[in-house]
Amino acid sequence: MTSSPTSAPASAALLERASSVIPGGVNSPVRAFRAVGGTPRFIREAQGPWLTDVDGRRYVDLLCSWGPMILGHAHPDVLAAVRSAADKGFSFGTPSENEVLLAEEIVNRIAPLEQVRLVSSGTEATMSAVRLARGVTGRAVIVKFAGCYHGHVDALLAAAGSGVATLALPDSAGVPAEMTADTIVLPYNDIAALEAVFAARGHEIAAVITEAAAGNMGVVPPAPGFTAALRRITREHGALLISDEVMTGFRCGRAGWFGLEGEAGYAGGAPDLFTFGKVMGGGFPAAAFGGTAEVMSHLAPLGPVYQAGTLSGNPVATAAGLATLKGCTDELYPRLEATAHAIADAASAALSGEGVAHTVQWAGSMFSIFFRDQPVTNYDDAREQDTAAYGRFFHSMLDAGVHLPPSAFEAWFVSGSHDEEAIGVVLDALPAAARAAA
Ligand code: PLP
Repeated sequence: MTSSPTSAPASAALLERASSVIPGGVNSPVRAFRAVGGTPRFIREAQGPWLTDVDGRRYVDLLCSWGPMILGHAHPDVLAAVRSAADKGFSFGTPSENEVLLAEEIVNRIAPLEQVRLVSSGTEATMSAVRLARGVTGRAVIVKFAGCYHGHVDALLAAAGSGVATLALPDSAGVPAEMTADTIVLPYNDIAALEAVFAARGHEIAAVITEAAAGNMGVVPPAPGFTAALRRITREHGALLISDEVMTGFRCGRAGWFGLEGEAGYAGGAPDLFTFGKVMGGGFPAAAFGGTAEVMSHLAPLGPVYQAGTLSGNPVATAAGLATLKGCTDELYPRLEATAHAIADAASAALSGEGVAHTVQWAGSMFSIFFRDQPVTNYDDAREQDTAAYGRFFHSMLDAGVHLPPSAFEAWFVSGSHDEEAIGVVLDALPAAARAAA
């Protein structure tokens, strides 16, 4: 079941116009509904947990702009901060106070982090962290894990999850083999494979980059001991460990995945570099990478590793990010988890009731429902699910006024603004969606 253009005529009309001036009609491929079919909804406005499309239909938003909108849309505190910042000008090309405040807020949340450099997207953050790791170590090789997405950086677009998985692309065209010649891709959660690669090529490896908890093949948390093994093995071989917290940062807890305790966390020691994005921009383009002052001292203007940006530390984006992080209090996270559990538990019960094979997986309040009955520990597992069933489930939910991620390979997100009414709409929609999936 896919929605026909008649169920969203104004969106369909805009998509047609968009398609003549924008490839596929969208500015990021996963927005195109290719995996689930039908017409992507063009959103006119968003408030709290609600999206309103150009046809005037309302949807409970379980996409949250793919993560950033942790407080809900147009949160009054963020809106006030943005208005106040915008009143004073949009971009200066010189340093400004908001940058300092946002950097301090981030650094103060994560003990081993001493410095961050602000950039405008998660892609820029990971690209710059990789360059820095190569500059610091004088080595070229990067290890990444299949199914982990680190943005559309050439060297990291190998076996990437997210849109690459959604569109079933083997990898991206336009990335010359030389660009990934120094990228080694290993299965996620496979310590033996990591040991073997380091035994053979450890002296060439600049860094291992990993999603702190994977969210781009659907949610796949690190198995107990995996993160500690990453830390131990990289340290033994003089390689850096880059923890990509673009998705998990300030989403899984006030200090991101790093702040969580337990065997899947960083009990084995802190990573050398972190990357952040999404939540820390509050819906505006702001991202960051950071580490100890020593590692960061290799960056220009202090050191020889070049990195820059016209809009980096933009005063409006940093105001939005700062106001959002101020709202990311200790009190917020249990609320997010309660909301997410109310939804996921009900979805699981509805699917079980219809005999639909599924598995729910978690990282903090982020979760995915895989349409298979076995746990997912890596990318191969994630791809062995019934994506057609997900598509039917997705469209039934959409018709009932709930906007899920338009791909089976993505995380579901909730916000602090998802109230009883919004949760009620989701719960009411689930039985029919489970029947559609069966
Ligand atoms: N890293 C991770 C873990 C992500 O989830 C993403 C985006 O989804 C990125 C990096 C890239 O961020 P951006 O889309 O802001 O470039």
